Amino acid sequence: MAELLIDGDWRSALAGGRREIRCPATGEVVTDVDEAASEDTTEAILAARRAFDGSGWPDSSVRVRSDLLHTVADLLADNKEKVARAESLDTGKRLVESEYDVDDVVSVFRHYAQVAGEDAGRVVDTGRADVRSKVVHEPLGVAALITPWNYPLLQTSWKVAPALAAGDTFVLKPSELTPSTAVLLMHYLEQAGMPAGVGNLILGAGATAGGPLSTHHGVDLVSFTGGLGTGRTLMANAAATVKKVALELGGKNPNIVFADADLEVALDFALTAVFLHSGQVCSAGARLLVQESVKTEFVDELTERAGRIRLGGPFDDKAEAGPLISAAHRDKVEAYVTRGLAEGATLRCGGARPDDPSLEAGFFYLPTILDDCRSQMTVVQEESFGPVLTVETFTDEDDAVRIANDSIFGLAGAVWTKNAGLAERVASRLRMGTVWINDYHPYVPQAEWGGYKQSGIGRELGAAGLAEYRETKHVWHNVKPAVQHWFGGQ
Ligand code: NAD
Repeated sequence: MAELLIDGDWRSALAGGRREIRCPATGEVVTDVDEAASEDTTEAILAARRAFDGSGWPDSSVRVRSDLLHTVADLLADNKEKVARAESLDTGKRLVESEYDVDDVVSVFRHYAQVAGEDAGRVVDTGRADVRSKVVHEPLGVAALITPWNYPLLQTSWKVAPALAAGDTFVLKPSELTPSTAVLLMHYLEQAGMPAGVGNLILGAGATAGGPLSTHHGVDLVSFTGGLGTGRTLMANAAATVKKVALELGGKNPNIVFADADLEVALDFALTAVFLHSGQVCSAGARLLVQESVKTEFVDELTERAGRIRLGGPFDDKAEAGPLISAAHRDKVEAYVTRGLAEGATLRCGGARPDDPSLEAGFFYLPTILDDCRSQMTVVQEESFGPVLTVETFTDEDDAVRIANDSIFGLAGAVWTKNAGLAERVASRLRMGTVWINDYHPYVPQAEWGGYKQSGIGRELGAAGLAEYRETKHVWHNVKPAVQHWFGGQ
């Protein structure tokens, strides 16, 4: 099998590299795929460049792009079970969650199919009768699309769909840990009629296979979703050729519960906010901020419920949460918990690997609650990206906002209260790209997603998510040109 797609050809890595992909729930090898090196990636960039500069794709009609996106959505919907299974085997997440993800991916492709022709530009009134002036949006060029392992296909769809809708060409590099659904997607794009070279696929490790994506002069945009450290590296690399960068990075998101909230609902959502997908969600509500007067009862009940969460593999019907992505990632999460305890946190539950022998081969970690935390602690400030909830208390509205905003991140947050005025005030004061009021986690492709501060640059989804993949041009047309005599002597 060859899994690299370059210029319409499925190829193997030039140096012959292969990588085994293991299911995090069992440690078993589920597949093995090509492992590209930088020379493969350079080929892919050159193919995308040729397709942009010479294939006519950027000039294709909105109808053509829209039909392609609708057809891909149909193919994904028709193959939902196959795609979801592949996603679950790579990530270890429950099959039902992968199925939700495929539904979301279908919606994302349909959304961009619908909006591909929107915001075609505008006519500008220059105040001059002899001038026709217009601002138009054009395809940006070659986009390098780099995605993480937590929502592999979903994060990919947030990039591939707008890139195609805009008329760009692209090189996609999914996480080396979770490549399978990207391979399937590229097959569906081909089946749907994507011209050769418009979409190219590279598999492999970030620093090697990914290297040229942020340094090669043939790339116009680096659209990246992943960790803060990698984002900083890519931004620095991109500076040398002044590429545009769109960065969706980490978060350390506060979930703020006021005493007057519907505490039963808030409790239920506080669990989902942080323990969904074992905390491997960029917008996870990993910082619980609870008002002092209800803190004890709230955290006691939360601890009891967290202790009952059933862990298991993707195809275990009774499982409520799955494993962490890798042994190395579990080590990292464990180190954060150890550090938190050393810094003064109180362990309320978890803080260990499960002792169930049937889970021993997977990278499982128990849902963990660390009480008595303060904003200054490392485990509160840094993203563990695991099933670890830190608990802080606040006194009043100002205190809640101050603590919530005390972070280098600004991706998402939530506020729970029955007081609509209080909720709206807090929402407007939070320095975050998404704020939920009396809810947690939902998103729609029609609304922008992205981070303030070090959670990123730019937006995905919504109108701004399409704009990331377009250039803007002002065309000034003088319809009655006449000499000006600026320089009188000539
Ligand atoms: P990561 O930064 O380790 O890797 C992300 C991708 O970047 C992978 O494909 C990796 O191979 C690639 N990469 C690494 N170094 C590279 C380089 N030098 N050049 C090119 N590519 C390179 O992140 P991860 O561990 O896969 O994902 C988890 C992170 O993603 C978390 O921090 C999470 O918060 C973040 N995330 C953010 C969002 C969001 O919407 N803001 C969504 C999902 C995940």
